[in-house]
Amino acid sequence: MVNVIVVVGAGVSGLTSALLLSRSKANTVTVVAKHMPGDYDIEYASPWAGANVMPMATEENSRWERRTWPELKRLTEEVPEAGIHFQKGRALRRLKDEGAPGNSTDPLFAANPWYRSMLPDYRELDRDEVAAGYDSGCEFTSVCINTAIYLAWLVGQCAKNGVVFKRAVLSDIGDAKTLSHTGQPAGIIVNATALGSAKLGGVRDEALAPIRAQVVVVRNECEPMVATSGTDDGAAELTYIMQRAAGGGTILGGTYDVGNWESTPDPNVALRIMKRATQVAPGLTGGRGIDGLSVVRHAVGLRPYRQGGVRLEEESLDGETSVVHNYGHAGWGYQGSYGCAERVVELDSSKTREPTASMAAMIT
Ligand code: FAD
Repeated sequence: MVNVIVVVGAGVSGLTSALLLSRSKANTVTVVAKHMPGDYDIEYASPWAGANVMPMATEENSRWERRTWPELKRLTEEVPEAGIHFQKGRALRRLKDEGAPGNSTDPLFAANPWYRSMLPDYRELDRDEVAAGYDSGCEFTSVCINTAIYLAWLVGQCAKNGVVFKRAVLSDIGDAKTLSHTGQPAGIIVNATALGSAKLGGVRDEALAPIRAQVVVVRNECEPMVATSGTDDGAAELTYIMQRAAGGGTILGGTYDVGNWESTPDPNVALRIMKRATQVAPGLTGGRGIDGLSVVRHAVGLRPYRQGGVRLEEESLDGETSVVHNYGHAGWGYQGSYGCAERVVELDSSKTREPTASMAAMIT
């Protein structure tokens, strides 16, 4: 007896869930989505992401990031075709940002952060290593993902395990029940529709909101990655820099604008992003300032924020079919992807006749 599973959504959350589920021979998995890797759309967050690991969770909520790091590290070391490379990362702190409103990434900037035991080579920076305008900082080894390569790689890994992909726009989560490629009704639907769940029938989650992220992608190279605790340009603006693996360009960020759905890049914001990036990392342009940047594109993505945190739980659809929700990852969807998908497998296993292998066994 196979477990018929339909995953709705082909961003990093849906694809990672499908990958882990498809590792069990007891499962037959179909992925159904409006957007697939290769598409660039304001309704599809995953392609726009940097994407790196800069822990954002508080220690008590760090399970998803803790469980994801070992797998991203393993992929970086052993699977070059996944499009991930190691980069040093620096978190630069200003005293005036401590407790500042809108500083939603503050656990990254804690003086003695929980992640110092997770990310290799963690150390406090010496005073003369801290960029001008900042009071302190730390450095660690992290990774940066080329999302164009990585999302496609996930599709390939799923396909190798027998996952079938279909395009469809659902108006109700229950519609997924009839969309398995097997023709049989799905016993489990995984809802990984991110901001789509704000309007999706059967879900309509009013706690969802976009956090607008405007970025500039440049050809210039930069190591280490940098994130700063704040800027002087308002609570909705951030400074971060990361170089994607395998020629994916360097991402200059950005903004963190809660509730803003605007999809068009704002040229004034872009100018400020480029100025701040070249100030904090003059080496980006060899000291030539913003004139030395070679722009690939200006872009906007929407982080799928959910007030109260990610929704990772199972509910009954109609007594026969269960829905396992995995959405609302805001700005940490990649760095929490394996931990959350592991939980999806656990929730699925509790609903299926033949329990799948333990989560730990699946990602180690
Ligand atoms: P999405 O990628 O939005 O996918 C949703 C899927 O559901 C899509 O396939 C969509 O078509 C489908 N869907 C929705 N509604 C329907 C429907 N009705 N019918 C059918 N299909 C539907 N995270 C990190 O971990 N590290 C970073 O460095 C990082 N940087 C970021 C930088 C930017 C600029 C942005 C925008 C985000 C960043 N993030 C980062 C956050 C990360 O990108 C998101 O958390 C993650 O991509 C969310 O993935 P998802 O699969 O849940 O959603």
